[in-house]
Amino acid sequence: MIPYGRQTISEADIRAVVDVLRSDFLTQGSAVPAFESAVANYCGAHYACAVNSATSALHIACLALGVGKGDSVWTSPITFVASANCALYCGADVDFVDIDPLTYNISVECLAAKLAQAEKTGNLPKVLIPVHLSGQSCDMGAIRRLGKQYGFNIIEDASHAIGGQYRGQPIGNCSYSDITVFSFHPVKIITTGEGGMALTNDAGLARRMQLLRSHGITREIDQMTHEPDGPWYYQQIELGFNYRMTDLQAALGLSQMQRLDEFVATRHSIAKRYDDLLSHLPVLIPWQYSDSYSSVHLYVIRLQLDLIGKTHRAIFEALRVAGIGVNLHYIPVYLQPYYANLGFNTGYCPEAENYYTQAISLPIFPSLTLVEQDQVVSMLSRAISRATAFDF
Ligand SMILES: *Cc1c(COP(=O)(O)O)cnc(C)c1O
Repeated sequence: MIPYGRQTISEADIRAVVDVLRSDFLTQGSAVPAFESAVANYCGAHYACAVNSATSALHIACLALGVGKGDSVWTSPITFVASANCALYCGADVDFVDIDPLTYNISVECLAAKLAQAEKTGNLPKVLIPVHLSGQSCDMGAIRRLGKQYGFNIIEDASHAIGGQYRGQPIGNCSYSDITVFSFHPVKIITTGEGGMALTNDAGLARRMQLLRSHGITREIDQMTHEPDGPWYYQQIELGFNYRMTDLQAALGLSQMQRLDEFVATRHSIAKRYDDLLSHLPVLIPWQYSDSYSSVHLYVIRLQLDLIGKTHRAIFEALRVAGIGVNLHYIPVYLQPYYANLGFNTGYCPEAENYYTQAISLPIFPSLTLVEQDQVVSMLSRAISRATAFDF
């Protein structure tokens, strides 16, 4: 099976992890701060807080911004459930804004309309979590303007997007947001096995996230309520978690950072080749803003089912049977039974539901070979032509 995504591990990566295994500290050593600095410097952000997953990063980002009971957090329905769950962890409510039909990111028009309505009814969001689907930035300039106008904070879920740029600047510099979150799960752009990071330019938010990732405990005298009782002393000043990243993970991440630009460039060339090879098929290829540079985490096509005359599911299953590990990113979050139980119904975000009936993620990762890519395209052609006798 050709997977839809997979990690790219070098001998240098392996050596970096083995070096940590031979060192004194498997966790809470020097690799975590080194990885944090590398990512912060790359992105042009002041502070970085490494954690054990992007899910944890989203959770402590919400808490650091004060999200709690009675608050509302809005996000896109076309995302992984973690982008919404983080608000529920904090006791807040979640709501969804429909997607843009071209980029599949949150629609700025729908957002503006929903905000105008929410202002009238007095239930504006406290935090918005735009998700950079496939690694293409949302329209952050417009989102930031709405944030200022309506007074909400912004957490960028950039789990797909490290290595990408928006208007010539690295995603993660937090020019348009309070906090940006990355994921280092193996299918993402760079990996630490499991892992995530939260970036910010705000010293107060950075301090709170650092506390929350490690039990709410501090060893900094200036954060304590009184002088230390002795050299052993620490204080718990918040209710935090154990969300720490290990040094084994950080060493892998630091080593992977050296090839980040290369990984993204390779993803672009694979995507470009798909664009060309698929041009004769009845599918929509990903649409890209001209002024942004995607990290190309996913390559999502949409089946033009009216031309194909067979179901989305039939094509998807034919590809899986042929050994092509296609996937679907994503099921609209509010259609999950857990969210349906919270009161969301089918029809809530029509554009997202329409997307869900047509989208397929084709395999894309740096070590995908030309032969494998040709195989993906030929199996897709066959699945479609068998369905329709479509003339190629
Ligand atoms: C992968 C992903 C997450 C969760 O990342 P983990 O590191 O696995 O917790 C959150 N949001 C989006 C959009 C993702 O793709």
